[in-house]
Amino acid sequence: MNRAMLLQQLHYSIETRNWIIENGNITGLKDATIPDINDSTTWKTGLGSWRPFQLAFILMNLNSMLDANHPDREMVDLIWFPTGGGKTEAYLGLSAFTIFLKRLKDKNDAGTTVIMRYTLRLLTAQQFQRAASLICACDKIRKENEEELGTARISIGLWVGESLTPTYREDARKIFKKMELGREEDNPFVVQKCPWCGSQMGYLKDEKRNKVKGYKRKKVGTTETIIYQCDNSECNFSKTDFNLPLFVIDEDIYDNPPTLLIGTVDKFAMLTWRPEARTLFGFRDTGERLSPPELIIQDELHLISGPLGSMVGLYETMIEELCTANNVKPKIIASTATISRAKEQIDSLYGRGTQDVNIFPAQCLSAGDSFFAYEDNASTGRLYVGIFASALPSHATAQVRVLSALLQSVKSIPVADEMERDPYWTALTYFNSIRELGHAATLIRADISEYLYSMWIRKGIKGDEKRFINKDIELTSRINSMDIPEYLEELSKSYQKEKYPVDVCLATNMISVGVDIQRLGLMTVIGQPKTTSEYIQATSRVGRSKKGPGLVFTIYNCSKPRDRSHFEHFQEYHSKIYSKVEPTSVTPFSAPARERALHAILIGLIRFYSEQSRNSPKPFPASETIERVKQIIFDRVNLIDDVEYEKTLELIEGKLEYWKNELPLIYGSFGQTTNIPLMYPAGTNPPEDIKERAWSTPTSMRNVDSTCDAIVITDYINIDN
Ligand SMILES: [Zn+2]
Repeated sequence: MNRAMLLQQLHYSIETRNWIIENGNITGLKDATIPDINDSTTWKTGLGSWRPFQLAFILMNLNSMLDANHPDREMVDLIWFPTGGGKTEAYLGLSAFTIFLKRLKDKNDAGTTVIMRYTLRLLTAQQFQRAASLICACDKIRKENEEELGTARISIGLWVGESLTPTYREDARKIFKKMELGREEDNPFVVQKCPWCGSQMGYLKDEKRNKVKGYKRKKVGTTETIIYQCDNSECNFSKTDFNLPLFVIDEDIYDNPPTLLIGTVDKFAMLTWRPEARTLFGFRDTGERLSPPELIIQDELHLISGPLGSMVGLYETMIEELCTANNVKPKIIASTATISRAKEQIDSLYGRGTQDVNIFPAQCLSAGDSFFAYEDNASTGRLYVGIFASALPSHATAQVRVLSALLQSVKSIPVADEMERDPYWTALTYFNSIRELGHAATLIRADISEYLYSMWIRKGIKGDEKRFINKDIELTSRINSMDIPEYLEELSKSYQKEKYPVDVCLATNMISVGVDIQRLGLMTVIGQPKTTSEYIQATSRVGRSKKGPGLVFTIYNCSKPRDRSHFEHFQEYHSKIYSKVEPTSVTPFSAPARERALHAILIGLIRFYSEQSRNSPKPFPASETIERVKQIIFDRVNLIDDVEYEKTLELIEGKLEYWKNELPLIYGSFGQTTNIPLMYPAGTNPPEDIKERAWSTPTSMRNVDSTCDAIVITDYINIDN
């Protein structure tokens, strides 16, 4: 594990090496120091070490991974550590340990071993790159020790939504062809650089013939898929028989269940719709069963709360069941930086009892010192400034004035070294909703330039000292998810004379999770965010490095009583902000969650367990299957929320009764269908008869409302007639 983690650190730290293109032909590859594991002088500074808390965390969990019957296996371990503390390394390390251990026990037991779940696609894709370096390291070690670790490759899969990665090979082939022909498309293959040697992958705009690097066609049975194979011939993963072990196409993932599966929590709603995903839990078509995933990692646990949390908790009934073999449950690890009433939340989600939740590191005698982490009162952290501009005509005016002043002063302030401006050059501007952002964005863009101009005159600012806005970007759900990596890359570019970084970045809560850009130091928050946890998460995006302590300006909206109250209690609120984090509630079997998705669990489990019922709801499932599935659900309700038992029982019986009488021919489809199915995708608008008779079934765990087309009426019916 130690070796794999070191290799991961070293190889992940290699910066992207672009292909050098002259006159439309590739003439070489940008040079880089390839770190040598045996020579620490080739390592970047800071690499090659663990933090004490990471080691402690891994050591603490060894027993539960080593011995499936150890009492610690039932325990849910929550890493509760400030953002930027290195949580990811801690659980990547444990993943590597688990992967190797499973192979050492039985080298042919090569199914999915670890599942990592995130809440946001943006973050998921970012983490995929990092985990991919680890998996390459593991697979290289396996290759060198095939006798002990087997011949089956150690691989990684990215299982997210259709908007990011392809569901079918056919779609992947089509897009790949377009890329080859030079019709630039959004890149659904996600990986932009080789996780091992850093060589650039993907679409090359200026290259004439060979436009796509790192992705190759490969025959699978009678069809073709797209695989990853590094184009740098010196790379260990550049051979046809030893390519990069990465999968992003859903079909490929089902056919080659990856050792480490990274996905969004949402995607697991698809289990009901895609019984072929059984392979991820060790089921094989031959009837044989490999051992199921042993380790489940849930990142950003505080986001799994409220309605989303209740849905996740409900589906967990199915997921935990599928990960259980011979009465051995998977180990669950969760992580967060801000949470309140964690034990109750975890118990409702995973049903392991509040006594079986271990928060690490434990809070001891002093609140500011847990041995592994302590509050550093001497160093500069983040400074919060509250602005309540009641004398200005509007909230927008306040935003324009504050932003202009900040932008200009960063340029005007005298510095010893120009680089000192870097942390405060980019003004990260946080909005609470897209609506507010949209409203302010246009105003800000036009008015700031104008206001800057008046500042120059008023203050006599001339020549080089004038600040202009050359580059502004937006990080919200409005932009294409495939453009996000590019924007993040743009944001991480540092200050250089003549080549300035991004000036303004407008963002919504999309940035509050996992955006880790060290150079950012300046932020304005427009209006008090809805929850304290969101406020902490969002403002933690700045001041992440010692070079640039964070500076946060919260601009309150004077017309909102809540904002006024926050301004009035500014000092008190900020001085004990962590104690203000709101407790969350998760109620998986409450009426709203039950009505929405209980039948999805029922159908999903029946499809997974019964071969006869896998592809068609007709004939009605065998009674043994039904009894088994009912038992699983009832056990879970009893465990989590026994007061809902009767109502859950009633609902299940009702659904089964309806299924038996109706006996539809198909489960449901995403396209047009002439048959009345058993279910239809929630959020779509099928014909009335389907809507009336079939069950609306989630394809995601969030609240999705159906969209409708608006038609402009040209003929008005004369009401009088
Ligand atoms: Zn490579």
